[in-house]
Amino acid sequence: MPIYEYRCNQCGREFSELFLSIRQVKEVKCKFCNSSNLTKLLSSFRVHQTEESRLANFDTSKPRGEDFYRDSRNVGLWAKKRMREMGIDLGPKLDEIVEKGRTGKILEEYNK
Ligand SMILES: [Zn+2]
Repeated sequence: MPIYEYRCNQCGREFSELFLSIRQVKEVKCKFCNSSNLTKLLSSFRVHQTEESRLANFDTSKPRGEDFYRDSRNVGLWAKKRMREMGIDLGPKLDEIVEKGRTGKILEEYNK
């Protein structure tokens, strides 16, 4: 039973779909906006599975409190997510920037 992951080009969200038969693959639509304008994500490229799922569940439209940034793993998540939603993929370079942010400098910025 194949599981495929998709990014919707209409609303920018990601979701995974479990297919009971290969015939269903062609009929997949976005779970959120019902668009069929989807990009299939290759799961073999998903190295950081945990972060990927955090990103997928992360809603940038919701307010983030102090606790959010107290968890250093969340630093940079917002930027990543926003860039994805805008269709920008900086790949490993962004990870580098985010990693720098997690050492504390970005935290100081947010607390101003
Ligand atoms: Zn959608």
